[in-house]
Amino acid sequence: MPIDATSPYDSDNIFAKILRGDLPCEKVDESEHSLAFHDINPLAPVHILVIPKGAYVSWDDFSAKASDAEIADFTRLVGKVARDRQMVQQGYRLLANVGKRGGQEVPHLHVHLFGGEPLGPMLARQ
Ligand code: AMP
Repeated sequence: MPIDATSPYDSDNIFAKILRGDLPCEKVDESEHSLAFHDINPLAPVHILVIPKGAYVSWDDFSAKASDAEIADFTRLVGKVARDRQMVQQGYRLLANVGKRGGQEVPHLHVHLFGGEPLGPMLARQ
């Protein structure tokens, strides 16, 4: 069930538990303010999630309330993960679902990083 991106932060969400160490993750990289790990249900040969360590529900929350240092750190880690995995030359895709219409399921900001094969059209019309 997609979340309401205007809801207050729920500190029991799955990614909050990963950040606290209550749940495991397959870590890819980490920086001062951000963490990258493999998606548990990959939709492409490479499917990595990058999350801020701070308590932000969505891109909306993060872009409005995060510090410049957190935003810079997050943006740089997304780029670094792609570079470190040699994804730049072949290309890759970033996706951030926001709220109900965006189909966001986990109420902690995450950017999906997809690659490893041609990814097809951006959206499929239904
Ligand atoms: P979204 O629909 O944008 O909220 O995406 C949530 C993503 O989190 C999905 O791609 C899930 O497969 C992924 N996910 C859920 N639980 C875990 C977990 N414990 N570790 C890694 N990825 C997860």
